[in-house]
Amino acid sequence: MSRAPYILTVCGGKGGTGKSTVAAALSLTLSQRGHSILLVDLDVDGPSTANLLGVSPETYKEIFTFKPIIVKEKCLGCGKCVEVCQEHALIHKKGSPPILLEDLCSGCTACLLACPNSAIEQGAKSLGRILRCKAAENLTLLIGELKPGEARSPVAALHTREEARRLIAANGFDMVVVDSAPGVGNLTAQALLMGNEILAVTEPTPLGLHDLLLILGLAEFMGKPAYVVLNKSTIPHGDPVSVKKACGQRGVEVIAEIPFDLEFLKLQSVRDALRKSRSLREAASLLADFFEARM
Ligand code: SF4
Ligand code: SF4
Repeated sequence: MSRAPYILTVCGGKGGTGKSTVAAALSLTLSQRGHSILLVDLDVDGPSTANLLGVSPETYKEIFTFKPIIVKEKCLGCGKCVEVCQEHALIHKKGSPPILLEDLCSGCTACLLACPNSAIEQGAKSLGRILRCKAAENLTLLIGELKPGEARSPVAALHTREEARRLIAANGFDMVVVDSAPGVGNLTAQALLMGNEILAVTEPTPLGLHDLLLILGLAEFMGKPAYVVLNKSTIPHGDPVSVKKACGQRGVEVIAEIPFDLEFLKLQSVRDALRKSRSLREAASLLADFFEARM
């Protein structure tokens, strides 16, 4: 039986710190060194790793969630389903079957369980999709993607995590890199839960530092060791000293600094940006040295 792979969650708190770039660059570099890598993109509201790697993954699976189907002929009009619905997604007139407001429904199944006459049946609603491809030799990319206009990103992330688990069990990998969503909410927490360790990518701005401290607090609460990458470290009016001081006070190591690179910023909207930026390749090589030793 193959051993469980080392899982690293890359997060950033504030959006735009470069976490997806670092996650993709690290994954690509490790795969080029001959390690078998799975990159899981859990930023389901706006996955960007495929573009960074210059690949076009195919839909692998649709993501479905529960949707109640009201069977009018069986409905007693009792309103019990309406009472238990925390999302106020069901409305009804006493004695009549309820009406579903689909956009508000979270798919929690409480109404299904509460109905005394089995008048609610299992339906399915598509939330998004999971995409998969071989992004390079030794590098598998798995992406969760929410449908435009859908609001249930944690559900889509949960399905993507489960798919990642199945893939890991079936294939075994030397290392799994998880690219989390920005912020410090439910979506980020799901990505943090997956990792053995956390790599927080930040920038030397007040908001970058503020969110970094929240991420480090969350990692500490979960008992996950964390490291920091200071991206755009030479950004004009930046304050890298405060970031390093705050990390030092928490006993968290800043393992790499990536200087501000205007060329890379211009490249970010271009497909396959990773392979085109020299400064990023150098930083990724440094990070790969560090994490190669932890596999
Ligand atoms: S599944 Fe949950 S949210 Fe949707 S209608 Fe039923 S109780 Fe309400
Ligand atoms: S709980 Fe069942 S029987 Fe009662 S109103 Fe809802 S669907 Fe109808």
